[in-house]
Amino acid sequence: MGDVLVNDKYETFVGLEIHIHLLTESKMFCGCKANYGDEPNTNVCPVCLGYPGVLPTVNERAMEMGYVVARALNCRLSRKTYFERKNYFYPDMPKNYQISQFQEPVGVEGYMDFEFGDEIKRIRIHDVHLEEDAGKMIHAGDMSLQDFNRAGYPLLEIVTEPDLKSGEETEAFLRAFRRTVRYLGVCDGNMDEGSMKCDANISINLPGAGLGTKVELKNMNSPRFVRRGLQYEAQRQASVLDEGGKLIQETRLWNENRDITESMRTKEMANDYRYFPEPDMPPFCPDDAFMAAVEEAQVELPLTRKHKLMRKYSLSSEQAEFIHDEKGNADYFERVLALGAEAQSVYTWLSSDVQKELNLLNMTLTRSPLSAERFAELLRLMEEGQISGKIAKQVLIDVFEENEDPSRIVEKKGLSQISDPAAIARIIDKVLGENEQVVQAVREGEQKQKGFLVGQIMKETGGRAAPALVQKILSEKLS
Ligand SMILES: [Zn+2]
Repeated sequence: MGDVLVNDKYETFVGLEIHIHLLTESKMFCGCKANYGDEPNTNVCPVCLGYPGVLPTVNERAMEMGYVVARALNCRLSRKTYFERKNYFYPDMPKNYQISQFQEPVGVEGYMDFEFGDEIKRIRIHDVHLEEDAGKMIHAGDMSLQDFNRAGYPLLEIVTEPDLKSGEETEAFLRAFRRTVRYLGVCDGNMDEGSMKCDANISINLPGAGLGTKVELKNMNSPRFVRRGLQYEAQRQASVLDEGGKLIQETRLWNENRDITESMRTKEMANDYRYFPEPDMPPFCPDDAFMAAVEEAQVELPLTRKHKLMRKYSLSSEQAEFIHDEKGNADYFERVLALGAEAQSVYTWLSSDVQKELNLLNMTLTRSPLSAERFAELLRLMEEGQISGKIAKQVLIDVFEENEDPSRIVEKKGLSQISDPAAIARIIDKVLGENEQVVQAVREGEQKQKGFLVGQIMKETGGRAAPALVQKILSEKLS
């Protein structure tokens, strides 16, 4: 089911609420470790368990990360932000309210540009605010277990305006957003492990009629499911309207096993959160040094990086897409070039042989034994004719397996190319002497047989003979 079906008749409006876990050492309002996967209920204290009378204190590192994201998303930054209590009961909320921000979030009125097909699209950001995560409930048979390790985790919520026009476009935006927070180093963006979550609101209407009746969509655990959930929902809403029905404001869940959305609750049952300022925490007023640190933490964002790679190194859009996906890889790529390698050759190796090794060993490039220096050295050995391309591929594998410099491997294994004409001539004479019938056939015009002789010569030298020299000397000897 595509978006086109819906867009023929209706306009679609999608807005997102994206939650990201910030990569801090400790929780938002206490000193407990913020670590994924620890033994249940080991990272807890009276503050994050919501005991009466405790005093939460703000995690300044989380605060800074919140501002860094808001700044990168071009928001107007608050010089006096404060926390509020969002009151509701939920079984995994230890204190029946969540500390969040409502009136004065860290940033408002921003935007993010991203690429969709050949176009650059701009999505407005309503606000960026900090809050704490709830605990986690595990249902086991007829029991429900509570793990409060996650309660109090620093959570950053990014709310977009309903500017997205389709499921496909939303998927592209979400991937670009995830890349952005990874570039900023504030979140790993792992939707499987729940360190990034995304709820969507979607409405459709006749073109020009503005927003329709809003449906909230939850439980989409990957950018792909976000696209599919939205595509399904837009189509469902169109069918309701086409049949003369009326849409209701409700929350629906994406069921990834059945590929449909299912109603969870209608808005009549929605909570009134009764926000009021958190009385135990003073407002946070960032000083000039704090704001300078936020500025300092800004990096070249993915979209800018991609276009720079295309411009500066003449990469195609597709090549730059591959290189810029992870900031570490883009940095690595530029470092190898700074060491004298040529862009197209680096790209080709990275996207084929190097990628193959990384997949095989389940490694990331920046943590692999192939440092930028080693990679540049390998390409230089090949460029200078010291080893052939074929040998270079073997040396690459050896670098991964033995964690040694390419030049050392070449030396140790005697892999350097034979480029002494006299040495090559000697080997050719030997091969010709062993294959007199073939030599006769080639001299009588059967050129195809020449390839057999070349193969024998390369075999004799373990693939180390300089191919151009072999061709030249062999032709001389056969004529
Ligand atoms: Zn705690």
